[in-house]
Amino acid sequence: MTLRWPGSSHPEDDFEAWIAQRHQERVLDGSSTPAGPCPDEAFLQGLARHSKQISLTDPRVGHAANCPICMRRLLALRPQYQARRRRLVLTAAAVCCCLVVAAFVVLARRGSETPHLAANMAAIPQTVDLWNAGTLRNGQPSPLQSVTLPAALVKVTIILPRFSESGQYDVAVTRDQAGHDLLAHGSATATGNGDREEVSVNLDLRNSRPGSYFLSTTHEQNQASYYYPLQIK
Ligand SMILES: [Zn+2]
Repeated sequence: MTLRWPGSSHPEDDFEAWIAQRHQERVLDGSSTPAGPCPDEAFLQGLARHSKQISLTDPRVGHAANCPICMRRLLALRPQYQARRRRLVLTAAAVCCCLVVAAFVVLARRGSETPHLAANMAAIPQTVDLWNAGTLRNGQPSPLQSVTLPAALVKVTIILPRFSESGQYDVAVTRDQAGHDLLAHGSATATGNGDREEVSVNLDLRNSRPGSYFLSTTHEQNQASYYYPLQIK
């Protein structure tokens, strides 16, 4: 038989709980006849806390289920175990909460480290004016235009050549004007200022050796690239 006690938390067990209740009332009335002697306290405690070591086929279970004395003892023991289980569940929940909070704190700290580093190392603002640069395409830099940037973390604001389209631009620093050996790049949306389009990106040139390079702008939509000679000092 299955032992069920009042206060079962599952609604589907309600019927079973009801039967158990009726049975319990009969037992407590002394209407049932228990078989065998009363089991010891340890056994009743195990039964009260639903110990897995107790088999429901154990004759002592049958006895306890039909003995008014054992039934009363079980009813007295159960609230104690229920309270203890509730405490255990609460403690476990509290521990879980602490772990979750700790994990969030660690992640938040880790996440904030990188921006902190970047913020501490302020990018050097540089303006590159390409307004009058020649508009020859793909690898034909204007001989008039040469750009100089420091070997540092720079925030470059490029004034794009006249007639430049609005939209997203990719700005890159490369070793040659075929786009090989990419040193740094960034992309941003050009902001219109009158008919002038400007694009601002951060370029990390800290690991760059001084020398001759190329600065390129590529319009992301039409993929038109322009290269300008660049000196890194
Ligand atoms: Zn008994």
